[in-house]
Amino acid sequence: MKYISTRGNIGEVGFIDAFMMGLGNDGGLLVPKEIPAVSAETMKEWAQLSYQELVLRIFSLYTSGEIADEDLKEMVAASYSTFRHPEVTPVRKLKDDLYLLELFHGPTFAFKDIALQFMGQLYSYAATKQGKKINILGATSGDTGASAIEGVRGKDGIKICILHPNGKVSKVQELQMTTVQEDNVLNLSVEGNFDDCQRMIKELFADLDFKSANHLAAINSINFIRIMAQTVYYFYAYFQVAKETGAKTINFSVPTGNFGDIFAGYLAKRMGLPVGKLILATNENNILERFVHEGIYMPGDFRSTYSPSMDIQVASNFERYLYYVLDENAEAIRSLMDDFKKTGKIVIDESALRKVQAEFAAHGVQGQACLDTIKQYKADTDYLLDPHSACGVAAVEKCAGAGEISVSLATAHPAKFNEAIELCGIEQTFPEQISELFDKQQKQTLVDGELSSVVNELVKFYND
Ligand SMILES: *Cc1c(COP(=O)(O)O)cnc(C)c1O
Repeated sequence: MKYISTRGNIGEVGFIDAFMMGLGNDGGLLVPKEIPAVSAETMKEWAQLSYQELVLRIFSLYTSGEIADEDLKEMVAASYSTFRHPEVTPVRKLKDDLYLLELFHGPTFAFKDIALQFMGQLYSYAATKQGKKINILGATSGDTGASAIEGVRGKDGIKICILHPNGKVSKVQELQMTTVQEDNVLNLSVEGNFDDCQRMIKELFADLDFKSANHLAAINSINFIRIMAQTVYYFYAYFQVAKETGAKTINFSVPTGNFGDIFAGYLAKRMGLPVGKLILATNENNILERFVHEGIYMPGDFRSTYSPSMDIQVASNFERYLYYVLDENAEAIRSLMDDFKKTGKIVIDESALRKVQAEFAAHGVQGQACLDTIKQYKADTDYLLDPHSACGVAAVEKCAGAGEISVSLATAHPAKFNEAIELCGIEQTFPEQISELFDKQQKQTLVDGELSSVVNELVKFYND
């Protein structure tokens, strides 16, 4: 398997190089040269596998022998040994036609752990193999930061710096990131919102001299390896629910911000998984909902919501999807992304929009509707949804047809977002790993929203 850029201006690279490059050196996003096809027969066999076995089968399609089988097996075992549930991502029935895919049994209680626990292993592997220093740099709306830090804290040869928007993440998210005391971790708390953080990260990665001089590595979902790791649970959940219901096709509803997770679902479908509708669930920051309905991609005003991990206007992974909508035409992508830079919007034509609408349904869950969903499901099923997962479930109610079976992704544990749960008048008991955070010392550096201030802090950190 080789990897190419959506903008067509880098040569083909292998798996480890794609992993280390993160953002394409031409500013595009890396994608597999060909999407591997999985036959119905193979899937029949896969349906019997454990989560970890399934991971190995799927990853092998993408690593094409660059990592020895034994090494890969060891890394996968280590990655998922930190999860609190033996199935890693168990499926749970909420109603006859609605299942929840619980993705929050990892160390930081959100779905980001599924990819980032593995990427932590992979960074160590690459650092050792190539005898190189690695400086991980990323932006977070809350969950990626905690998860990425957890994946590499204290690891030799690796430093990690995470930018988060000051005061715009939940208390638990902030504590998970900032109570880590290891010297290889730097938390920058930025005056601004997530889009500001993400823009600065993209600018730093686009500066190829800075990137190579400082050994920068990308942890955000611009890194294809995250997408790859997240395709696994779509397969796993499909197999469990198909066995139980006899359904041939199954919808997936995905609480969406950066379009990474739902793109993994799209990729699973392109690999051959019989996915019905991909339901894009979002909140008031509904740029992607508007795109699915109107074919126009144009950032609106940033809003703070009950589901802060989805408070994103410019979705990094959108370019990956656009590339497939435009039949893998890199030249068309270059021209659309140029337009976007100049005019602040992307418009696709009628036939492309029909393709988008054949694949996706979308619904933005606004304000009180999110809290009402949490309250209603607590009352009806005694299940406490977190505000992101609640958006997913509400979108199923809106978008799934009669008789269709849907799996809604539960992307975080409710304890991470007690601010919203309290507003529902619900009192929850925190898991011990979360309640003990409140007694720990915090370590973070406040910076203004200027790129130069971030660079100053980075240079200090790297030279330390
Ligand atoms: C990151 C995150 C999302 C959004 O996922 P994307 O891949 O950015 O679309 C949704 N819910 C939670 C809890 C998250 O942490």
